[in-house]
Amino acid sequence: MTQEYCNVCGHPISSDESIARGYGSECAAAITKAYYELLNKDNDASLKYNWIIEVELVKSLFLDTFKTTKFRSEFKKSFYSSMQNAERVSRKQMDIMIKELDYKHLSVSREVIYNARQAFFEEWCSDKKITRAAIEIARREVRKNK
Ligand SMILES: [Zn+2]
Repeated sequence: MTQEYCNVCGHPISSDESIARGYGSECAAAITKAYYELLNKDNDASLKYNWIIEVELVKSLFLDTFKTTKFRSEFKKSFYSSMQNAERVSRKQMDIMIKELDYKHLSVSREVIYNARQAFFEEWCSDKKITRAAIEIARREVRKNK
């Protein structure tokens, strides 16, 4: 078996996962972190990643869950219709929707939210370049948090 080396730092790599990827696990963590740092500097992308993806998924889950509900409470009735028409959702409104959705719905949506964020992150990263310097800065953070 020939020895494989990390494409980023040149250290020997041995796990199947690292070899398939072409770089070691520490470099993988540093690269991911460097991309997150870059995303956090992009206001639109970070707002979408940190807030809008979750809002849209919780809102559609909320609207769907209570689609056929006849609300007795005037507050709930008007809240539901305001969410149907909402272009923006406040933190307070999010909290109300989360409270109205039961545990089962939310545990499903946690996973859906996580997957949607990952998909967005990967898509966002696909046309971005990170520098070797950014990877090294991120590597220091990765080591510190070990
Ligand atoms: Zn490496």
